[in-house]
Amino acid sequence: MKLPEMIIFDYGDTLMREKNVDVQSAAQALYSHIRLNPDALDEEEVCSAFVELYLKAQSAVKGSGTDVHVADVARLAFAGTGIELDIGYDECELLVWNSAVKGEILPGAGAVLKLLNEKGIRSAVISNISFSGESMRRRLNEYLPENRFEFIIASCDYVFKKPELLLFEAALKKSGLSAESVWFCGDSFNADVKGASAAGIYPVWYNSGNRKPPDDAEKYNYCEIRSFAELEKILRGDGENA
Ligand SMILES: [Mg+2]
Repeated sequence: MKLPEMIIFDYGDTLMREKNVDVQSAAQALYSHIRLNPDALDEEEVCSAFVELYLKAQSAVKGSGTDVHVADVARLAFAGTGIELDIGYDECELLVWNSAVKGEILPGAGAVLKLLNEKGIRSAVISNISFSGESMRRRLNEYLPENRFEFIIASCDYVFKKPELLLFEAALKKSGLSAESVWFCGDSFNADVKGASAAGIYPVWYNSGNRKPPDDAEKYNYCEIRSFAELEKILRGDGENA
């Protein structure tokens, strides 16, 4: 089959897995950056103020197709407590992310990115996430230094979440490519396969968990892989299932 000129990847549970979020560690890290704390809140209280507001914000947007930005939550949480940090909110959100959870690269993700580089296939990311694209770029550069992602569309920077068509259309515009020249690889059938498909982008469903496809899956033209090794095979031209 004809290879794409670009593959756009999902982030969570496709490129990286992030488990065991440790909010307490994030609170500790933030606490060390407080320069003004008029009510003398302790670490626990700072943590609660942040977490409670984050949960309230998530609950407010649930089902709306939009996303919350962690930096905005911090801005409001600290304004409400009078706390001021010695770092900016962009720095603050990256600190929260890096302190709260370690990333685990999905097996073979680095090898696929290297192969894309070798073949001159361009790459990018669209992710449903509460951290900015800039924070994600810094994180990805640390974990997957071989990446040459041309752009990262993080839902919290772009109002909406996948499968919103506008995100995929924005990605196509950024790439300068037509939809037929682009593939999208992600683990969520609803957000990734259906979203990409609506934009005319060929979806590659990364189904490492061997999950059952949804009942309406046959309406979609997509390729299913269980591992990045399978995607490598396809890109090397010896795959049978695409
Ligand atoms: Mg995902």
